[in-house]
Amino acid sequence: MKTICLVISLLLAATVLSAEAPYELLLKGGHVLDPKNNLNAVMDVAINDGKIARVAPDIDPIEARQVVDVSGFYVTPGLVDIHVHVYAGTGMRGAYSGDNSVYPDGHTFRGGVTTVVDVGSSGWRNFEDFKDRVIDRQRTRVLAMLNIVGHGMGGGAIEQNNDDMDAKATAAMAKKHPDTIVGVKTAHYRAPDWIAVDRAVEAGTMANIPVMVDFGSFTDERPFEELVTKRLRPGDMYTHMYLGSVPMLDANGKLRPYLQEARKRGVKFDVGHGGGSFLWKQAIPAIQQGWIPDSISTDLHITSMNAGMKDMTNVMSKILSQGVSMYDVVEMSTWHPAQQIKRPEFGHLSVGAVADVAVLGIDRGDFGFLDVRRGLFKGNQKIVAEMTLQGGRIAWDLNARAGQDWMISNREQQSARGRARRGAGAGRGATGATIPRRP
Ligand SMILES: [Zn+2]
Repeated sequence: MKTICLVISLLLAATVLSAEAPYELLLKGGHVLDPKNNLNAVMDVAINDGKIARVAPDIDPIEARQVVDVSGFYVTPGLVDIHVHVYAGTGMRGAYSGDNSVYPDGHTFRGGVTTVVDVGSSGWRNFEDFKDRVIDRQRTRVLAMLNIVGHGMGGGAIEQNNDDMDAKATAAMAKKHPDTIVGVKTAHYRAPDWIAVDRAVEAGTMANIPVMVDFGSFTDERPFEELVTKRLRPGDMYTHMYLGSVPMLDANGKLRPYLQEARKRGVKFDVGHGGGSFLWKQAIPAIQQGWIPDSISTDLHITSMNAGMKDMTNVMSKILSQGVSMYDVVEMSTWHPAQQIKRPEFGHLSVGAVADVAVLGIDRGDFGFLDVRRGLFKGNQKIVAEMTLQGGRIAWDLNARAGQDWMISNREQQSARGRARRGAGAGRGATGATIPRRP
């Protein structure tokens, strides 16, 4: 009887405790933009156990152990940047599989990004080195598209070597790591034939994953129109959509009709800003005529980050500056790219989804947005990442919204220190100070 009573009272205590605060964290008062779930309204977002627990107009703060006021900000899914280069640390000079890459954690969270896709820096021969060197060690969720070239983006002749474009080996590596490898990439190819594109599509078909093409040089024998209307499959992607050499406008400045035909076929068009692939003279007339991106991505690398691209929110601000709505810009940076890489578990705030969240502000003022040829567009809105959560944990907090007043925090640390000292004095095997420290 005693045992039963004890169990009942323990259960009751647990119930009371959980009824008091069922959520670890509550983002209160933000404007939720969650295109997958058609949400565009002021709502609260409750998070527990690393997952989205509830999204509702007014969640009682008493239900959360920590409440963060995000009123005046947009609350969106964590941004999904599907074109980056993060295979750093190999020691290869002047190569994207080396010194041209950056380590992702230094660049992602501060721009609202929680998931990136490295596109083609590695191929089947060095993907596992990339995984060990970067992917498994970074807090950012890093996915990858394998370069059709076995050695990846080693630069120069390495990327032109047809003998190293092995569709079978590429597909086999993709199948070996289905959690991480989400596509096949071909890039920088200069020869006037279709070998690189065709082998990438062959590998993508074998592994049932999409292909992303960076067309490299444009040649008469290998026209862009044929790439997007014939060679690529529905679901495949062309990155660098506002590149100067893409034949986008006719002599009268009108959008060429084949582009919409390609989109109707299901080919996706990605921004892939980078250091050389975003020109206002292409983007402005195209967007005015409705040629907007399916997905917004940065093409983050050592050059683009210090030039016109800068970071994900800056590229999003550029699209916003052309009159595209914030809702659409967020969709192009979350739910659309997640679907394009066939990872529909990301890019939304559905209950039960991993709690990857961006809290985005829009600063108003005079801002300059640079393209890749020093072209300036002046805008008056700039998206800024105020907070970023990954898996429910705060990964970026620009203005310490989740912080605690330092005097209260100091008092708590002192009393914790006192408790630790008393514990050590009682000789209960304390191994040293237990002063709480920030991770
Ligand atoms: Zn790139």
